[in-house]
Amino acid sequence: MTLSLDDRQRAMLAEMGIRLFEPLPAAAPAATGTSAAPAATSTSAASGAPGRSAAAAASAASSASTQAVHSGAAPTPATSPTPPIPPIPRPAPPSGRLPASAPATLGPPPSGIEALDWDGLEQAVSGCQACGLCQGRRQTVFGVGDRQADWMIVGEAPGEQEDLRGEPFVGNAGQLLDSMLKAVGLDRGHRVYIANVIKCRPPGNRNPEPSEVAQCEPFLRRQIALVQPRIILAMGRFAVQSLLATQEPIGKLRGRLHQYEGVPVVVTYHPAYLLRNLPDKAKAWADLCLALDQFPSTEPGREPSIPT
Ligand code: SF4
Repeated sequence: MTLSLDDRQRAMLAEMGIRLFEPLPAAAPAATGTSAAPAATSTSAASGAPGRSAAAAASAASSASTQAVHSGAAPTPATSPTPPIPPIPRPAPPSGRLPASAPATLGPPPSGIEALDWDGLEQAVSGCQACGLCQGRRQTVFGVGDRQADWMIVGEAPGEQEDLRGEPFVGNAGQLLDSMLKAVGLDRGHRVYIANVIKCRPPGNRNPEPSEVAQCEPFLRRQIALVQPRIILAMGRFAVQSLLATQEPIGKLRGRLHQYEGVPVVVTYHPAYLLRNLPDKAKAWADLCLALDQFPSTEPGREPSIPT
């Protein structure tokens, strides 16, 4: 039998590192180009299955080599060892986005926060990369208000508007909070300090993960230690859970006083929730009155008025 491979098939086998034993010129048959091996090779290549194509080609090459030896034209050893076919490289993941399963590269958890002053704390927050939320923020949302206030408002996490402006409680929910504060003789620049548990906006305003709360909580704790408020109003589930270390729902916690490291805490609904659940505004007002009973808003003689 004679080997019948055209130039392209020979080049392909050579690329794969497969050597052929050529018959002597006198015994070389004319190439007709109708053997089964080339057909299989080209079909595999066209199918887009390179592994199968390589295997078929290797098989054809092995058969071809054997045929060449059996032709008797060259009294050389039967075959030389076929080098292994290199593995097919896998495509790299698209750049610009991490695969869903890839962990984010994060910095170390905050440390030494309990010794920071206001400037140091603000700097630590603005450069923090201790959880994955740093990757989607426009800016951190530190806190706003009187740093020697008696009242402290603790919210949950920044939303889109807060992320844009770098200030907690802005937009419609912020306006409602301002109305509530005004009703008890407070405003955000005067006698009250406002901060969130989480300093970076969760993507799509999703709920923060427990690990994110745990990483960010030390910043809030330091803010409370620096302000030394006389009363804390915890607004929303994550503020309440963080300060009181409980999983109890707000409905079961509101209406009575709690304590955070000796500071009285009143639990109430977040203004964003109140905007969606108007009947619960009356409950939030009762919570404000409970806080007022505990610590007046420092304007004696002023009568609180229910915010609209
Ligand atoms: S959310 Fe808090 S812990 Fe996470 S990156 Fe922002 S500042 Fe750091």
